[in-house]
Amino acid sequence: MPGKVTLVGAGPGDPGLLTLRGLEVLSQAEVVVYDRLVSPAVLALIPPTARRIDVGKNAGRHPVPQHEINKILLQEAQAGRNVVRLKGGDPFVFGRGGEELEELAAGDVAFSEVPGVTSAIAAAAYGGIPATHRDYASSLHIITGHAREGALLEIDFEALVRAKGTLIFLMGVTALPQITAGLLAAGMNPATPAAMVENGTLPTQRRCVATLGTLAERAAEMKIGSPSIIIVGGVCALGSRLCWFEAQPLHGRRVLVTRPKDRAGTLLSKFRAMGAEAVEFPCIETQPIHPCPAMEQALGRISHCEWLVFTSGAGVEAFWTCLRAMGQDARALSGIKLAAIGPATAKSLEAHGLTADLVPETYDAAHLGEALAATASGKILLLRAEDASQALPAALEKAGILYEDIPVYRTVYHHPDSPSIREKLEAGYFDYVTFTSASTVKGLLSAIGPGPDLTHFTGLCIGPQTAAEAEKHGITVKTAPQATIDALVNLAVKMDEKV
Ligand code: SAH
Repeated sequence: MPGKVTLVGAGPGDPGLLTLRGLEVLSQAEVVVYDRLVSPAVLALIPPTARRIDVGKNAGRHPVPQHEINKILLQEAQAGRNVVRLKGGDPFVFGRGGEELEELAAGDVAFSEVPGVTSAIAAAAYGGIPATHRDYASSLHIITGHAREGALLEIDFEALVRAKGTLIFLMGVTALPQITAGLLAAGMNPATPAAMVENGTLPTQRRCVATLGTLAERAAEMKIGSPSIIIVGGVCALGSRLCWFEAQPLHGRRVLVTRPKDRAGTLLSKFRAMGAEAVEFPCIETQPIHPCPAMEQALGRISHCEWLVFTSGAGVEAFWTCLRAMGQDARALSGIKLAAIGPATAKSLEAHGLTADLVPETYDAAHLGEALAATASGKILLLRAEDASQALPAALEKAGILYEDIPVYRTVYHHPDSPSIREKLEAGYFDYVTFTSASTVKGLLSAIGPGPDLTHFTGLCIGPQTAAEAEKHGITVKTAPQATIDALVNLAVKMDEKV
């Protein structure tokens, strides 16, 4: 197959603003060539099989020159590869996308383009500023504030002032004083509302709202840097009323979400929905113990049991796999009661058409043990992790109940991105680290290695046993009142309300 290049707009930073088409194309890429402005959250969507070429910076700190980028695109496509050229915002809005396509056309390489959400509109929107509004602006102008090397700004300020529309400047941080002075000199009222949005749509977004007369000074005070858009016009006055993004409960907070490798990132998306910058760290993996003679034997005599007890989805999966491998199905469970430690485990059972007969009111091992002790009269089969805690068997023993505790899966630790996560933890980058089981605590520690200072963040723990494990390592902890994902997210929200 001949190679091709797809120019894709990555949007302004929030990964949710990448288009569906963009994501589809990206997921099929063999080579991805990307710029400095493509956010880490979007880069995380590049398939692991694709080769990444960062042209935002090379050995020095300077970006790869445009003619080099053009050459890379040509060569990769001519070698028969499916190349995605990923650019911040929209490729054709001050993105030099047109120049790159001209080169490809000249080189007879197949190409196409997927538009993106431009920062000009989206950063304003996330700053609570609508680009147009019937009461304030009937036209919209997007202007570059970047002057070609050594030259003065080529902006017709008089024309812009006459147009009476919303003015949005990109690449204008350095030239901000010249831009505001130019508009004032062309007769624009210094009281005209004006604003800047830095790192728009990103968890680090900041807004500077002022007037044309005061914007340069105010931005300097706030040390507003690049990337930022500058907005001038009546619509900026709406910013303080319509600002929704920065008003999110966890805006500006950074959370490290430790989780098992094979589990979907619900916690991640819930933290993001609250405005936090959530970084995923899949540091552990559960593996079913296979073959598992102990479980096979127990399942062979399953009619002798009164209860089957599960403390995690991994346990449910290991059990189901074993049952199926023995040539059996749900009918083997006829008359047997099922207990789940909490709603997530109950949901795993539900996925196999099985309903839990018992879920304790408090989702932890001790309460599960007590609830079982209160109702059970026959034998109980515990299908749990290899290194599961003793709280559950202890509660059963205390009540004099017969049980068999069978390890059906084990936890292994992974070390992805460990050095950078360790560095960030030590630098105090994260406000919170979430732990959804004692093994995620062990997973994090084993991944980052011995000796780091773990006092810069609060560990948000799903339950008392997880908290105890974290405290053992000197981590300051907060424990969710209920062992659910929502309660864990709420914990962070509540802590922010107090400050
Ligand atoms: N093609 C891009 C613009 C590239 S020019 C787009 O459509 O968005 C680079 C300029 O874009 C920066 O100097 C800045 O003005 C703006 N920009 C890009 N991302 C931004 C962001 N997240 N927040 C604010 N401005 C941004």
